[in-house]
Amino acid sequence: MEKKKDIVMSGIRPTGFLHLGNYFGAISNYVKMQEEFNCFFMVADLHSLTTHPDTKELKANVYRVLAENIACGLDPDKVALYCQSHLSETAELYLYLNMMAYKGELEKTTTFKDKVRLNPENVNAGLLTYPVLQTADIILHRAKYVPVGKDQEQHLEMARTFTNRFNHRYGEVFPEPVAFNYNQKLVKVPSLDGEGKMSKSESQLATLYLADSDDMIIKKVMKAKTDSGPSEKNAPKPDYIENIFTLMNLVCTPATIQHFEDDYNNCSIRYGDLKKQLACDMVNFIAPIRNKVDAILKDEDGLKQIMKKGAEKANISAAETMKQVRKAMGLNYF
Ligand code: AMP
Repeated sequence: MEKKKDIVMSGIRPTGFLHLGNYFGAISNYVKMQEEFNCFFMVADLHSLTTHPDTKELKANVYRVLAENIACGLDPDKVALYCQSHLSETAELYLYLNMMAYKGELEKTTTFKDKVRLNPENVNAGLLTYPVLQTADIILHRAKYVPVGKDQEQHLEMARTFTNRFNHRYGEVFPEPVAFNYNQKLVKVPSLDGEGKMSKSESQLATLYLADSDDMIIKKVMKAKTDSGPSEKNAPKPDYIENIFTLMNLVCTPATIQHFEDDYNNCSIRYGDLKKQLACDMVNFIAPIRNKVDAILKDEDGLKQIMKKGAEKANISAAETMKQVRKAMGLNYF
């Protein structure tokens, strides 16, 4: 008998153009994992509502995220690629899990504290319970592995806490979900200005988007912060130089990286040359994806079909889970 495949789940919010952080933190693993696991990947439109986007833009953004995932190599015939709001069971499970999530622990979440600081006038309950909704998304398919970037580490810890609490109170329904990156550390793609990470909304000039034109990519890379170079051999790198090498590791060949490492270590590095090389390799990486996205977006009917088919696959798994959940919780009265 064929061995049952382990279940994988992850999602991306439709809050703007996808960037290199989304690619290397999440999508590149989705593409690898689709070959060996039973995968559920979604566009997290409900999560995006927590920050009150202009919902007139939602549809275009959802289609774009779908197209960007497919352009990066995700095959909708191999995975369930769907939109979060198409699974009504998510809301039901979220409700049950909310009764197991405590105000104190939710208030301590780093992403919640950041959002409160940035937007003190919008501290809504959905924002506070964001990790609960995320847990519902994951365990709705009884997923074991969750491919995500480093910024999601704390949310995954919370997902394990809520899952274990459910299992402890009502009986073992769910496996413990873990953040996944093929036994490597979770990825954080740094921003080009040497501060923080690439992101959809903050520091747009320091983030490389999969939709950026060649000229824009070159402009952003050439503006990355450098200095006049080290004056001592084998000196440690300042953070902003380390970040540039981290970015090189994503797209340049090992020989190119070694060349600039050697130049750095013997104090002959020319950052202008390094950035030109990095810009060229980034263009070669991003341009084919950007062109594919443009082509996929032209076929709106095709994307609609993909979303529908994805929701059908995801619905089967969600319905089975909720049957088990209601039974475990004693909510089956007939
Ligand atoms: P989000 O854009 O917040 O919906 O995140 C979608 C996925 O991309 C999540 O798995 C994140 O962990 C990942 N991600 C977002 N930004 C970065 C980054 N700068 N480095 C690594 N992974 C990231």
